[in-house]
Amino acid sequence: MAATIESGVSLRPFNTFGVEARAAFFASVRDVDRLREVLAAPQVAGLPRLILGGGSNILFTGDFDGLVVRIDIPGYARTGDDGANWLVRVGAGESWHGTVARLLDDELPGLENLALIPGSVGAAPIQNIGAYGLELAERLQGVEVFDPASGALDSLDVAACGFGYRDSLFKREGAGGRVVVGVTLALPKQWNAVAGYADVENELKARGVVRPTARDLFDAVVAIRRRKLPDPAQVGNAGSFFKNPVVPRAQREELIDRYPSLVSYDIGGGRCKLAAGWLIEACGLKGAVRGRAGVYPRQALVLVNLGGASGGEILALAREVQDAVRVRFGIELEPEPVVV
Ligand SMILES: Cc1cc2nc3c(=O)[nH]c(=O)nc-3n(C[C@H](O)[C@H](O)[C@H](O)COP(=O)(O)OP(=O)(O)OC[C@H]3O[C@@H](n4cnc5c(N)ncnc54)[C@H](O)[C@@H]3O)c2cc1C
Repeated sequence: MAATIESGVSLRPFNTFGVEARAAFFASVRDVDRLREVLAAPQVAGLPRLILGGGSNILFTGDFDGLVVRIDIPGYARTGDDGANWLVRVGAGESWHGTVARLLDDELPGLENLALIPGSVGAAPIQNIGAYGLELAERLQGVEVFDPASGALDSLDVAACGFGYRDSLFKREGAGGRVVVGVTLALPKQWNAVAGYADVENELKARGVVRPTARDLFDAVVAIRRRKLPDPAQVGNAGSFFKNPVVPRAQREELIDRYPSLVSYDIGGGRCKLAAGWLIEACGLKGAVRGRAGVYPRQALVLVNLGGASGGEILALAREVQDAVRVRFGIELEPEPVVV
């Protein structure tokens, strides 16, 4: 069946900030042939395009005068093993959290730390999603991509994806770049709990769990996230709005002399990650409200739509936060979501 391209579509239901923006053209695709077809359609020739999954890492600041393609490609299949890991190929349009839960039900643990991250499987490699001591790159064999420039399908192994902290080759390629149509996850045959992260450790302790199973870890992560993060169905948000800044160790030492309670982690190579939430809170902005946009009172890293905010209002608040942190600490906060 030919894919339908609609015009003048509201993107409000398609972004977790819940902000209004209209797409000049919009299509949802369930397979690669439909993707190829909509990208080549004459009515959108030469227009900008944007690939969309669950809209949980994006801020629309105005209407999009081009084509938005929502990736809805299904699929879930065990494809064998690579010696140390079971391999499972998953379509880009599947729900990320749904996939983590399904793998656990299928006795293929390994992704519990990344439970309850909203969005699609196809977007997970874009910023190399991470949480509670684990990043996607550690559980990925490779990705399948469609290249709109050549029309070719290609497979990239994990080493070719250029992963970094909330970063990848695909993120750097930007809107005109390759489209992820499927991923192959690598789940360790010898499962070990990744439970060293303080929040996880404390939650397990509070639950009286000494030797956690994968299910214990999954339940602990879900409980922590439900407590700390706003549910986008209730309060519009895109999770952490800023990355934790990475600075040379010497700069961290200088800051600690001035601010002994600064939260930071050594990440090796003479570099440290600073807790952006701490920096924002120290500027007195935790819980700040500007019109219909706010800094979430329980987690300063999260910006929220208090009801009816525009993308512009949220962006203005983000800039205020960046300015405050720059003036006070001389540190540039980089947004994590894609601003369109
Ligand atoms: C409450 C909450 C908590 C969150 N917690 C975390 C967390 O702990 N860790 C974390 O890393 N992230 C977190 N996020 C951010 C977000 O959920 C992830 O980045 C997620 O992977 C985004 O998926 P999505 O399908 O919604 O992507 P979208 O928002 O639809 O897209 C994000 C970017 O990826 C591109 N893109 C999407 N799909 C594809 C594709 N198939 N091919 C090519 N490009 C594509 C888009 O063009 C856009 O640039 C959180 C968000 C929320 C709302």
